[in-house]
Formats: sequence, structure tokens, C-alpha cells
Amino acid sequence: LSVAACGGSDRNDSGTGSNPSGAAKGFAKDALIGVALPSKTSENWVLAGDLFTNGLKDAGFKSDVQYAGASTTVADQQSQISAMITKGAKVIVIGATDAAQLGTQVKQAKDAGAVVIAYDRLITGTKDLDYYVAFDNFKVGQLQGQALLDGMKAKKPTGPYTIELFSGSPDDNNAGVFFKGAMDVLQPEIDKGNVIVGSGQKDVKQTAIQGWKAEGAQARMDSIMTSTYAAGGKTLDGVLSPNDTLARAIITSVKAAGKPVPVVTGQDSEVESVKSIMAGEQYSTINKDTRKLVAQTIKMVQALQTGGEPEINDTKSYDNGSKVVPSYLLAPVIVTKANAAEAYANDPKLAPLTK
Ligand code: BGC
Repeated sequence: LSVAACGGSDRNDSGTGSNPSGAAKGFAKDALIGVALPSKTSENWVLAGDLFTNGLKDAGFKSDVQYAGASTTVADQQSQISAMITKGAKVIVIGATDAAQLGTQVKQAKDAGAVVIAYDRLITGTKDLDYYVAFDNFKVGQLQGQALLDGMKAKKPTGPYTIELFSGSPDDNNAGVFFKGAMDVLQPEIDKGNVIVGSGQKDVKQTAIQGWKAEGAQARMDSIMTSTYAAGGKTLDGVLSPNDTLARAIITSVKAAGKPVPVVTGQDSEVESVKSIMAGEQYSTINKDTRKLVAQTIKMVQALQTGGEPEINDTKSYDNGSKVVPSYLLAPVIVTKANAAEAYANDPKLAPLTK
């Protein structure tokens, strides 16, 4: 695997011919920028679409912002990207529905001279991907694992603690990275016997929730409640949930089983979860400010427009199987009831919920 590919200067070897020096070319100030987002599986995606539409307009670009449909997500997204290429988009920003199924479209984009930026979710198995911009996903997982331990300890000072593990959709590269980050913190405690996975389901294949669907998480939790925590069974202290949508489904399931709500982690700072945290139910979430991520992406587009190189702050973390993708990673923030007011102080939607 070529580490030399991570410098970001390799995107002009596409056979467009005019630019043998490898320097970026630049394009018109009002060029078309394509944004292909996955289906609206969490609030952050809804927000991102609006922010891209407005932000690209304010920056003087034309934009084409599309979401994959709710069911035929992969095919939808593939044809949306192809259409953007046909319309002459100069940069295509992609939040992938399925990390592994966009290689053909990314190559098409490159052959047409467009730059491709993976947004929030990595695209795997292609050397034609130019950049990745995201919150540090491994760090998100580590923060979730640590919050789970802290939350359980605050309720019950000594272990052992009984937990369950959930992870996101297997077709989303982030899901595995979040899980690895969390296990980086939890595995040593499991090895010491201080933390026990009650159901015994520890493998990412057992914990994964296809499509990040709330129904899937609720169904899995229902069956675990029956198998492991019914009358005479164990007491559940905590659940690792990779995001807020799944966290709320898990809490619903535990309540339906008539059991007290355990410590449950989350991610995305969704309105209903922030309310739940303030009410003392969900324990934690992660603040990944979508406004910052979209702004950073638009900065990258502006750098490309002038013929410059976008700012990169990581050239080692994201190997997509074909290259190490030059990345810009932002720092996620853990949020519990204790720091919610501070964490959301400059967020007009969430700040009022913390008062
Ligand atoms: C995002 C999370 C989100 C999940 C489901 C992930 O790729 O990073 O923020 O909760 O997708 O939409």
C-alpha cells in the first residue's frame, strides 16, 4: 500500500491530460458542487443538507444536494452521483450509504476531472477518492466507552458491571471504527472481569444494527431482555449505544420490559436525546457540530476552486483498503447532563433545552 498516495497531490493523474505537473487546476467561482447524502437516518443528515445548500450558495457556487431514498439507498446514491458528474460538478461531496459500493462512481468522477470528498463516512476500496472530512470517529468510540464506565461508576461505585453492546450499520465504515474505539476502552475492563457482557454477544457481527434502524435496535434489545434480564436473571447496568436514535430505542425496550433504565450512551446530540439526558434517562451523547463539519468541507471546496490544496490534518488514520486518504478530522465532544449547558451554549436549537 502506497503511503506516498497520502499527500493529496495525486488527484490530477486522471488522464484529463492538461495538468502533468500535478498542481491543482482550479475552476470557475460559480461552478456546480454536488452533495450526495445518505438517507435521513439521523438529524445530522437533515441539518447537513440545509447547511450545504445555504453555505454553497453564500460562497457563490451552484449546488445540487441529494439524499438517497429510504429503501433503495445504494442504487439511488449511485445514480445521483452519476447525474452530478454528467451535469459537470467540479467537486462531489459524498456521505456514503454503503462505503464499499461507490468505487465505480468515484472513478467516473475522477475521470471527468472532478474532485471527490468523502463527508463524515469513508468510501472504501478506491484509490480515486481524494479527501475525507469527518469528526474523529475512533475518538467518538473512545469517549462513548469511557462515558459508559463513568456513568455506571457514578451509580454504583464498585463493579463488576453488566453491560450490553450495540454497533451501527455494517455498510457504514464509521460503525466499525466507533466500535473499535469503544472496545479500546472497554476490553481491558472486560479482561479484568470488572465488566461483563451479560448476553455474551461481543462480536461486531452480533452487535450490528443494519441501516442504523431504531426498530432493529429495539428488536435486538427486546430479545436480550427476555433471554438475559427477565425475572431471576441478571441486572443490566449499562448499554453501549453508538448513536442517539438507537439509544432511545434501547431505552424504550428496557422500559417495556419493566426494568430500570441503565446507563446508555449515544451520539449526535439529537433533540429528543438531549431532552432525555436533561430528564436523567439517556446518560450521554456526543456533540459533533454539523455546522463546523459543513463549514470545513466548504473551505476545502473553496481551496480547490482557487487551485490550492485543501487543509489536511491527518495523513495516517484512514486507510480505505486502496490508499491512505488525506483527511481533516474535527474533535468530538462528550456531553452528559453535567456539561450540556456549556457544550450547547452557542447552539440556538439545543441551548434552550439545557436551561
Ligand atoms: C454518523 C453518525 C450517525 C450515523 C447514523 C454515522 O455515519 O457518523 O453521526 O449517527 O451515521 O446516521
